Amino acid sequence: MNLFLLLSLILFNELSANEINLFTTRHYDSDTIIFKEFTDQTGININIVSGKSKPLEKRILEEGKSCKGDLFFLADAGRLVSAEEKGLFKKIRSKVLEKKIPKQFRSEFWYGIAKRARIIYYNPKLISLKEIENISYEDLADERFKEAIAIRQSNNVYNQSLVASIIENHGKKYTIDWLKKFVQNFSREPAGNDRSQILSVASGESKLAIANTYYYALMASGKKGEEQQEATKKVKPYFPNQQNRGTHMNISGIGVLKHSPNPELATQFIEFLLAPKVQKHIINNTFEYPMIESVKPSILVETMGKNFKQDNSTNVSSYGKWQKDAFKIMKEAGWN
Ligand code: FE
Repeated sequence: MNLFLLLSLILFNELSANEINLFTTRHYDSDTIIFKEFTDQTGININIVSGKSKPLEKRILEEGKSCKGDLFFLADAGRLVSAEEKGLFKKIRSKVLEKKIPKQFRSEFWYGIAKRARIIYYNPKLISLKEIENISYEDLADERFKEAIAIRQSNNVYNQSLVASIIENHGKKYTIDWLKKFVQNFSREPAGNDRSQILSVASGESKLAIANTYYYALMASGKKGEEQQEATKKVKPYFPNQQNRGTHMNISGIGVLKHSPNPELATQFIEFLLAPKVQKHIINNTFEYPMIESVKPSILVETMGKNFKQDNSTNVSSYGKWQKDAFKIMKEAGWN
């Protein structure tokens, strides 16, 4: 071997030991600031591969042992569990993460980084607060809400996780009966994204909608244009299940990939994401809820509702466990 080749091999090893490859479904420009901060602090470079969850999952699976990815960042516990079940993740242990992240928001394979609530929205011109006071997701099947509710399609993972949480808490038989009545209360054929459900309430087409909290905050921030910002003024958020287990919570989370060349650095990066300063940066840009208690949600999110009771008893892993059953019974109930 000539000297040049030897040197470049050493150099290459040196370089590859000082970088991690992150596969992510997130599309926030603000994340690049976090990555740079990590590099400045540790000297470890981060290479980003971004895309949608299914194609990324497929790529990681197909590449198998030769996949150079270290980390996979996903939204929704349902997706994290699905990746876990396909054997994409490596088990890691970290005292820091176990201490910082409540048990119900992590597994041995993935860790929740930030939380989101899937809540109810209402148009006070069409339905009074009194009429929905103290309601639970379960009550949304009541006849009094006939043709009132806008919600996206059953193939959406957020909805599957919500229904999975009902299965986890009440069993499948209850949920099948509940779904039959709930679907009768749809105001229109499910279509569009979460923001479009909120817009349906703003326009008066629907009295109620179900959507994740960060979408409302995003619209209210003006980042989605003036029209959507105006729409949020006609719509009020409502946090259900305050009298029982609390409002349905989900996570965005991350795991170390099975064939990660640098699992230690990858774990170090996850720990970095839980640092107060980084948590603050994340939630101020994504409008999610922080995973650690010492950080407060962004002002826009706080004005939606302060100190509401979060469902801290249902383990988010159960969303993955019941995902397929949930989808099946949603379809059978006529939820398109
Ligand atoms: Fe989303």
